[in-house]
Amino acid sequence: MNKNKITAIDVEYFKVPLAEVLSDAKHGDHTHFELMLCRVTCADGMQGVGYTYTGGKGGRAICSLLHDEMRPLLMGKDASDIDGIWHKLQWEYHYVGRGGLLSFAISAVDIALWDIKCKRADLPLWKMAGGASNKTKCYAGGIDLNFSEAKLLANIQAYLDRGFNAVKIKVGKDDYLEDVHRVEAVRSLIGPERIFMVDANYSMSVKDSIRFAKAIEHCNITWFEEPTIPDDYLGYADIADAINIPLAMGENLHTIHEFEYAFAQSKLGFVQPDASNIGGITGFLQVAALAKQHNLPLCSHGMHELHVSLLASQAHAGYLEVHSFPIDHYTTHPIKLDKGLAVAPDMPGTGVIFDDALLAPHLVKHF
Ligand SMILES: [Mg+2]
Repeated sequence: MNKNKITAIDVEYFKVPLAEVLSDAKHGDHTHFELMLCRVTCADGMQGVGYTYTGGKGGRAICSLLHDEMRPLLMGKDASDIDGIWHKLQWEYHYVGRGGLLSFAISAVDIALWDIKCKRADLPLWKMAGGASNKTKCYAGGIDLNFSEAKLLANIQAYLDRGFNAVKIKVGKDDYLEDVHRVEAVRSLIGPERIFMVDANYSMSVKDSIRFAKAIEHCNITWFEEPTIPDDYLGYADIADAINIPLAMGENLHTIHEFEYAFAQSKLGFVQPDASNIGGITGFLQVAALAKQHNLPLCSHGMHELHVSLLASQAHAGYLEVHSFPIDHYTTHPIKLDKGLAVAPDMPGTGVIFDDALLAPHLVKHF
């Protein structure tokens, strides 16, 4: 018997409400996030848990890809053949799915297979994925464009109180001078030394991005994230040439090829893949290798409970985003800080163990 033979795949779909409405410039209001779990069981009973998430839309279609399309294809396959399965899924659905929902579904499968791989090796993910360290620099990423200035500042202060030494806010107000004012107010609150980033969620034109960046250059901004649409690789280079603030993007690049274009053309200062939409841990590590080759710090977007291990594992890690979607609140090991650094979990596996009792009230469908 091959103990790694896949004998069951369970897909669960959750809609998890947020404590309050969170807004950014392009996605508008977030009231909840979607969480799609993929449990892969092997012939000997070993089980891996993978997952992906969205800002509230598209989750059912991802579940359909996982359950209706991929499940029949994966049954009986060898769970230890992670690369083989990754490429099989990429090419099987390439024509209809390249880079979209497909990348999210592959991510959920891939993370489950890595969970199994780490458990079989009896090692934590940070060791399996590279082993550079078990800690990584991090920042608190606010989704706060709808907050009044007073609430924005109170929220930032709460981050500092939790031990963060780096913060990010959303920008992209109708009047850019209001953004400038908010950036100045936050800089004044956090003092001159702390790391501070801004994120426009691709809401600005190239011209407006340059105007805005020039207006906040005096605020010591570590990066300007997604100023304009991610597909305008050369537009990013134009912005980078015109301003003194490094650019960052990656959460909307969902294939390795899109990252190759960005590395070659966009003059980025930081790169931010998300294992939930770049093909899981396998896809994330491909981007990590490219970042190393191009001498760029590797950062992350979203799902910090998983990325903490991936960034810690890489010597060229930049900053882990501790995201405002609290997926980690529904796990047994919410994110932990030690002197401003995020600490990767040490148990065998990905270190992301969902608390079934906490998630149960938000289950929409078990496929
Ligand atoms: Mg962002």
